[in-house]
Amino acid sequence: MRYESKLRIYLALLAAAVTAAIILMPPPASSHLPELSRFGNNLTSNHWNFSSFSVQWNLNPATGSNVQGGNSAASIIEAAFNTWVSAPNANLPVTRGSDSSVSSESSSPANINLVCFVCMDADFSKDSSTLAVTITTSVSRGNGDGHGGTAGFDGQIIKSDILFNPNVQYTTNGTGSGSTQDLQTVATHEIGHFLGMDHTGVVRAVMFPFAPVSEHILSYDDDAGISTLYPKSTPDVPTGNITGTVRMFGSNTPVFGAHVYAGSTTSALPFPTSFNLRKSPISTLTKPDGTYTIQGVPPDSYIITAEPLDGPESAGDVSGYARAFGPAIQTNFTTRWH
Ligand SMILES: [Zn+2]
Repeated sequence: MRYESKLRIYLALLAAAVTAAIILMPPPASSHLPELSRFGNNLTSNHWNFSSFSVQWNLNPATGSNVQGGNSAASIIEAAFNTWVSAPNANLPVTRGSDSSVSSESSSPANINLVCFVCMDADFSKDSSTLAVTITTSVSRGNGDGHGGTAGFDGQIIKSDILFNPNVQYTTNGTGSGSTQDLQTVATHEIGHFLGMDHTGVVRAVMFPFAPVSEHILSYDDDAGISTLYPKSTPDVPTGNITGTVRMFGSNTPVFGAHVYAGSTTSALPFPTSFNLRKSPISTLTKPDGTYTIQGVPPDSYIITAEPLDGPESAGDVSGYARAFGPAIQTNFTTRWH
């Protein structure tokens, strides 16, 4: 089942003199995919600024009869946030704030990051298989940050609300079945969006756009993405980058939006088991000039594979990526290894 159609709101792009030099070349697409947005010629990876205000999430503890199971919804949301906060190599000082009684997204104040089970105004009726939606607000530098200050960079996330579809059956018992979804699995995925992550093409990752029956543990791909967005000053496990270019065989023209992944050829666990990560390939998409940089790759031996994004994940699952760059993602080629 598909997670959600994400919404995104960009505030007042006209305000605030953007004094930084115009960046003509986009930054490298990072391992896994961050949510990208374009402010003028500046392509940014949306993320929070933990030095501007303390980032907290606020639970409306009310749930409907669609949420069942032996654990409280609050404990599940807490566990799901903790999965990201405790991720190795990442610095994520996100904490639980006071609970909220806000019961609609439209009335959620600027300084509340709402987690809501009873909000009905996200128009879930558009897609009956949508499990939840995360609505993130990011702004350009100099705009108000909703906490009395101003954004320090383009693409600073200033608010994010997670709304669970009240029409979907959820269990808090840890494993979904049939049409019942596991709440912690969905929450962990949505919190990835809350933090600025986009979907990945790595099937075993939390940020893959389709929900498995149970997945509470981050993959190497998820961890590479989050630690690239929010790097710890002293990493728990040193990592490196893999770079290259994908071109069409014969014509040599660069391929945009090829899914490139580094798959380990060994059984080594460069992240010790104490970190509670699942080993997985680590991936990215190529930029319009065909180049890619897979960041956050731990020491190991890898095979690099380039494949078209033509299912199970498709270009529509990372539509923000193509929109940020301009051209449509190419899928008119076949899978290649090197
Ligand atoms: Zn998603």
